[in-house]
Amino acid sequence: MLEAFWNEDTGWAKPKIVPTHDFPVHPFNSTFHYAFEGFEGMKAYRDADNKIRTFRPDMNAKRLNRTSAELCFPNFDPEEFVKCVDELLRVDERWIPQPPSTLYIRPTIVSMTNKLGVHPPHETLLYVTSSPSGPYFKSGFKPTHMKVESQGVRAWPGGTGHVKVGANYCQGIKYVKSAFAAGYDQVVWLNGKTIAEAGACNIFIYWVNKQGQKELVTPMLDGTILPGITRDSILQLAREDKSFITSEKKIPINDLVKAHKEGRLLEMFMCGTAVVVGPIGSVTYKDHKIVPKKPDGELSVALYKRLQDIQVFFPCLIIV
Ligand code: PLP
Repeated sequence: MLEAFWNEDTGWAKPKIVPTHDFPVHPFNSTFHYAFEGFEGMKAYRDADNKIRTFRPDMNAKRLNRTSAELCFPNFDPEEFVKCVDELLRVDERWIPQPPSTLYIRPTIVSMTNKLGVHPPHETLLYVTSSPSGPYFKSGFKPTHMKVESQGVRAWPGGTGHVKVGANYCQGIKYVKSAFAAGYDQVVWLNGKTIAEAGACNIFIYWVNKQGQKELVTPMLDGTILPGITRDSILQLAREDKSFITSEKKIPINDLVKAHKEGRLLEMFMCGTAVVVGPIGSVTYKDHKIVPKKPDGELSVALYKRLQDIQVFFPCLIIV
C-alpha cells in the first residue's frame, strides 16, 4: 500500500510504499466519531499486450482533492498523486489480473486527529490499497431491477453529494436494505421529484423526448450528483453520435412515467468505474413498473464496448 501522512505544522511527509498493514488508532480518532473520510475508486487494466494501464487517473486525483477540500483536509498535486499510484502499480504488478478482471484501486483519506470535538483535523493519512476484482457481470449483461426511493434521499442542496465522502454511503443504507428485502437489486435516488442517481452509479435514460427527438439524457450536475468519470466519458462518446441528442438536465420522475406510458422509453442504464455500463431492466416507482423497450440494452452495450476499447485496447499511456 501507499501511504502519506500530513500534519498541519509540517505538511506532507514523503509518500511511502509499504506492506499492507493495520493502523493503530486511538478510540477518540475523529474519523470514527464524525466520519472524516473521503475515498476514490479506480482500476488498473492489463491490456492485450500485457501492459498495465489506468483510465483518466487525473480525474480521480482532482475529485479526491475536491472531496478533501469539503472535509477541510489538505490538497495535493494531482500529477504527483498519479505518479505515486503508477509506482504502486509497478510494485504490485503481479496482482493485476488478466482481463476481464482488473485491479480495483482504493485511494482513501482519513483524519488522524485523536481528539473529541468537531474540528478540522490537524493530521490526516492518505493511503492507497488495491485488490484484484472480477468483472461486475460474470456471464454477460444482466439487467438490474430498481426501486425508486421516494422517502430517503442520498444527497441534498448544500450537502456533500458532489464528492465522495464515506458518510454519503452509510446514511441511506436502511433504504437500500429494504429495497433488497423487497426483491430489488438497487434503488434509484430522487432529489424531490427529479431523478438523481442509481445506487452508487450515475444514471442515463435514452428516450424519444416530448419534442419527438431521440435523446440520451442524464441528470445535470447540480451539486447533488457525483460527477462520475464514466458519466463524463459516456457524454463525450455519445456526443460524437449525431443520430441522437445528448443532454444533461433535470429529469422529473413523472416525465419517465409518462415516456413509458407513451411508449417513448427506449433504454435506461447505470454507469460507474465498477460496473462500467449496466442496463436497467426496470424501475418501480409507486405503482408503476417502468420497463424500457430494450431492457437488455443496445445503446448501453455499444457504449460499454466503446469505453472498454479505450480502457483496454486503445493506444495510450502505459505504466508498466
Ligand atoms: N455516483 C456515485 C454515488 C458513486 O459513488 C460513483 C462511484 O464512484 C459514481 C456515481 C460513478 O463514478 P465513477 O464513474 O467516477 O466511478
